[in-house]
Amino acid sequence: MLVPNKIKLSNYVLDKMAIAFQFDGHRPFWNKKLQDKMHKFMLESNGIGLAAPQVGISFRFFCMDLENGGDPHYCFNPEILSSSEETVTMDEGCLSFPDEILTITRAENIVVKYFDYEGNQIDTQFSGLHSVCFQHELDHLNGIVFHERVTK
Ligand SMILES: [Zn+2]
Repeated sequence: MLVPNKIKLSNYVLDKMAIAFQFDGHRPFWNKKLQDKMHKFMLESNGIGLAAPQVGISFRFFCMDLENGGDPHYCFNPEILSSSEETVTMDEGCLSFPDEILTITRAENIVVKYFDYEGNQIDTQFSGLHSVCFQHELDHLNGIVFHERVTK
């Protein structure tokens, strides 16, 4: 699969489970290209997170950057290993649904792992807005959109 020249929003695979990356020695160039193009598009769109399925690419990758270029995280095959019982409730937006803001409760702290574009494993934890953003983007990789997370 080629990284598209022009990254654009698409709802075509939003409800699909995205495919895991295989770091087989051929992908790093493709992975780096995907991460850079998606990050650029996300910044131009004034987003703080963007998952590959939002741009029609059904692979397990998302980027998040809460400081518009100052704090990028590029997450291949991300997983949440544990979540705190403490929760945080925030108003969330989504580039795929630009006219909607939804109030959602999620775990405040999460322990995660993911891989960089070369397949090196990163173990870390996130809290607050970083945690919320990570959970929102990971949902996209599992075909879940934020309407399904609204606090009842
Ligand atoms: Zn979203």
